[in-house]
Amino acid sequence: MKYVIVGGVAGGASVAARLRRLDEKAEIILFERGSYVSYANCGLPYYIGGEIKERQKLFVQTVKGFMDKFRVDIRIEQEVTSVSPDAKTIEVKKIVSGEIYSETFDKLVLSPGAEPLKPNIPGIQLPNIFTLRSVSDTDVIKNFVSAGKAKSAVIVGGGFIGLEMAENLHAQGIDVTVVEMADQVMAPLDFSMAQIVHEKLVEKGVNLILSDGVERFDKRGAQITVCLKSGETISVDMVLLSIGVRPETKLAMDAGLKIGITRGISVNEYMQTSNPDIYALGDAVEVVHGVTGKPALIPLAGPANKQGRIVADNIVSGNKFVYKGTIGTSIVKIFDLTVAAAGANAKMLRREEIPYLSSFTHPSSHAGYYPGAIPMTIKILFSPKGGSLLGAQVVGYDGVDKRIEMLAQVIQRKGTVYDLAELEQAYAPPYSSAKDPVNMAGFVAENILEGKVKTLSWRDVRKNDENVMILDVRTRDEFRLGSIPGSVNIPLDELREHLNELPRDKDIIATCAVGQRGYLACRILMQKGFQHISNLSGGYKTWFIATTNWTKEEPTTICPCNASDEVSSNVDVCGCKMVEIDACGLMCPGPIMKLKQSYGELEEGGRLIITATDPAFSKDVSSWCKITGAKLLDVDNNKGTVKAVVEKSQKPSSKCEMRAEGLPDNKTLIVFSDDLDKALASFVIANGALAAGKKVTMFFTFWGLNIIKKKNKPVIKKDLFGKMFSWMLPGHSGKLTLSKLNMMGMGSWMMRYIMKQKGIDSLESLMQQAIDGGTEMIACTMSMDVMGVKPEELLDNVQLGGVASYLERAEDANMNLFI
Ligand code: FAD
Repeated sequence: MKYVIVGGVAGGASVAARLRRLDEKAEIILFERGSYVSYANCGLPYYIGGEIKERQKLFVQTVKGFMDKFRVDIRIEQEVTSVSPDAKTIEVKKIVSGEIYSETFDKLVLSPGAEPLKPNIPGIQLPNIFTLRSVSDTDVIKNFVSAGKAKSAVIVGGGFIGLEMAENLHAQGIDVTVVEMADQVMAPLDFSMAQIVHEKLVEKGVNLILSDGVERFDKRGAQITVCLKSGETISVDMVLLSIGVRPETKLAMDAGLKIGITRGISVNEYMQTSNPDIYALGDAVEVVHGVTGKPALIPLAGPANKQGRIVADNIVSGNKFVYKGTIGTSIVKIFDLTVAAAGANAKMLRREEIPYLSSFTHPSSHAGYYPGAIPMTIKILFSPKGGSLLGAQVVGYDGVDKRIEMLAQVIQRKGTVYDLAELEQAYAPPYSSAKDPVNMAGFVAENILEGKVKTLSWRDVRKNDENVMILDVRTRDEFRLGSIPGSVNIPLDELREHLNELPRDKDIIATCAVGQRGYLACRILMQKGFQHISNLSGGYKTWFIATTNWTKEEPTTICPCNASDEVSSNVDVCGCKMVEIDACGLMCPGPIMKLKQSYGELEEGGRLIITATDPAFSKDVSSWCKITGAKLLDVDNNKGTVKAVVEKSQKPSSKCEMRAEGLPDNKTLIVFSDDLDKALASFVIANGALAAGKKVTMFFTFWGLNIIKKKNKPVIKKDLFGKMFSWMLPGHSGKLTLSKLNMMGMGSWMMRYIMKQKGIDSLESLMQQAIDGGTEMIACTMSMDVMGVKPEELLDNVQLGGVASYLERAEDANMNLFI
């Protein structure tokens, strides 16, 4: 038998090697138009960036090595220019000499790959506009970069090759801008997951331009000006086009072979083209998507290699092996982040009208108590009926590869989220948790399917109106570091005591840091008879990542007072050794609580270094420093381990803009008086502050307690003094009197009458507005004790607290009123 193969890299080389292993007698000829075969095209970006140091390492096999080992007749620098299926011949052109000759075959294999897209944009042929596919492309780019000619680069396209190149050019000290036409990079991910990548790119100093395309390229001296559709222009030394690939189908088309609807070569389950003697594989063919069942182009090395084996087996043994389709399992390193996906994403499922549910989880890579545990984000998509796993996306620092592989297995084998919950994985603390992140994703999905909780996505929150209450059940410290606008904070541990304050007629969306406490809150509320409860999938973390404009935001704000050389030593300004805090393995608010505690023990000017593995900590520490006036001297996020240097400073300096900007701006009111006019004024101010988006705390003490007494009080046993106070003091807000012109109660009656006539809200209505707006009302326990006021007498939403509660709130406020 005489086998002829077109294309000598991933697919073609696999076929050749397998054919030889199966048929020692066969004549095998492999044609490759380039100068190399069987090289690692996936490694090319890393050679350009210097991670792979020796060029030789790119070659899995040399031509000679391949020929010696497999006795395959390799003909490099020869292009197959046409195929005559009936005559079973091909025409070949020698690239260097131009000589043309023909060759016969019994079976032909096409593995010509896919070529980088080069759209017809004006100026696209200018020098120093590159594409990357082959070793020779790599050599050109590498030489250009190594010669120091590139100080700046634009990468057009935010796919995996573009982003790998962004990282590798950045590693060469080049100022990189990524321009992407869509509103996100990494098409296999859904937007919220891609946002994590956006944050990373910006954090590493890559300029990211989304939702904008190239209109033309202009030459400007030695530079290229990239003119974008938005009107923005960027002048750079080099451009890399990485906007996708197109299957190389010309040979197949000219030979009359069937082309699929995705414009790839059409093959059957045996990888056979419309001509039984011609097989095709790799990037050039159309495959069946393993989830949607629809034709798809999935240009990846794994499928090409596996198809190579199947093609060779079918050629030799006569179509016995079936290629079952591809689910697009892929993984990419983007700086210190690992990004992986398998199956269908939400966009694809919507396009194919396949119903789905989704869930987000943020588990740690291994047991939190063992050093180095770092959270990852997992999104899974599953069928609402039966829970078939349709797609998975994992983004994180450690253990992402393992999790995507487990998830991909379940997708490929048409498993369900119930299978995820059951998957048995090897466990010891350094590697996993007894409930692996994949099990956790399964449990969460199971809860959704079984109706234990209804979940909403971050997109649903944005669409909400005033008929919805967003209930944040994180601790106050976490809430203070950032929250969804309009949300009300009742920590989970206190939720059961505040049920009466929650509206039963509104939709309540529970949220927490990552979704777990939100779920617990939902379970409490559902069992207490609340009907319209849902949990925000992935919690505040997912909402924050998804809704932030990463292309505009500065990742963290380092105090401009910082002199970086001071930070490099482990000594603070007082000459003392810096305190080192290890908060690794703790999830929010753990690191912040540790920081708060150690910061409190520092002398003014003292410094501490805190290390945490909660990736959100780089943002949290920045917010915390703004709130407290601490100086953030340095933050470094390396492979998910955040290291921050903080200096104690109590008096915000006018020289330090960051601290001035970050001053607390909550409002606190001490309501001491029970005069009607003063009560009115208090609630008018509180509601005004709420309307301006401020957090308001009202601390009711002494006579002020009378304002917040219930109208219909239960029967309460009191001692003599308690009873006397009750008889002599107003029993509720409706009994309050004016501080002036009260006239035996006539004045307050007139005041209420006039307010009503003029359409001004009554005191009770203002109080309700303040409650609905999330005002925290604290009753002073000391005054209650003195005056014999019992908790049951007070409005349901009032909390009890001492002076420390007030002072804690006052710390975060820039307005403290005593009324
Ligand atoms: P190729 O490997 O591209 O081989 C096709 C060969 O055919 C080419 O060398 C071409 O010169 C030759 N040829 C074409 N027409 C003719 C002709 N008429 N005559 C003679 N020769 C011809 N995939 C992953 O899964 N993971 C990764 O990390 C990854 N990284 C990548 C990084 C880069 C920079 C690139 C370019 C690709 C990467 N890929 C990756 C994709 C992966 O390399 C391809 O999916 C895989 O190589 C496809 O194999 P193939 O045999 O179909 O095509």
